Amino acid sequence: MEASCCGMAETLRERVGAALLGGDGRLYCAGNIECWGQTPSICAERTALFKALSELCTDFAALAVCGGPADREPEDFCTPCGVCRQVLLQFCPLDMPVLCVKRPQEVREYTLAQLLPDYWTRPGTSQQGEHP
Ligand SMILES: [Zn+2]
Repeated sequence: MEASCCGMAETLRERVGAALLGGDGRLYCAGNIECWGQTPSICAERTALFKALSELCTDFAALAVCGGPADREPEDFCTPCGVCRQVLLQFCPLDMPVLCVKRPQEVREYTLAQLLPDYWTRPGTSQQGEHP
C-alpha cells in the first residue's frame, strides 16, 4: 500500500494511506488530506471510509493502515487516531481486523474492539446497524 495523498505529498507533514476492504470485495483506498490548520484536515482512514459510504458500501471486512512522518521511513506501527477509531466502529463490525503496518513485513493486527474498548454510542442506538 502506497502512503500518499492526492498529489499533495510535498506539503504533508504526515503521509498515511488506508485501504478499506468492503464486503462487496472492493478496496477503498485513500490518503490523509492536510489543510491549513488542523481542524479541516482528515485522516486516511476516515477518507477511505467516507469514500466507501459515499459509494453505498456499508459492509466492511478489513482495514489496513500505513505511513508516518512524510520526511522519513516509518519508525513505528501506524494506528488509527481516536477520532477514526470512534467513526470506524460506528460503521464497521467490532471484530473487523485492522492491520497496522510499520513495514510490509511488520504488521500488527487488532480488532476495532481492541483499539477502542470503551467506545461511545449515542443513547438509544446500537454499535452497528442503527446509523442515525
Ligand atoms: Zn484519524
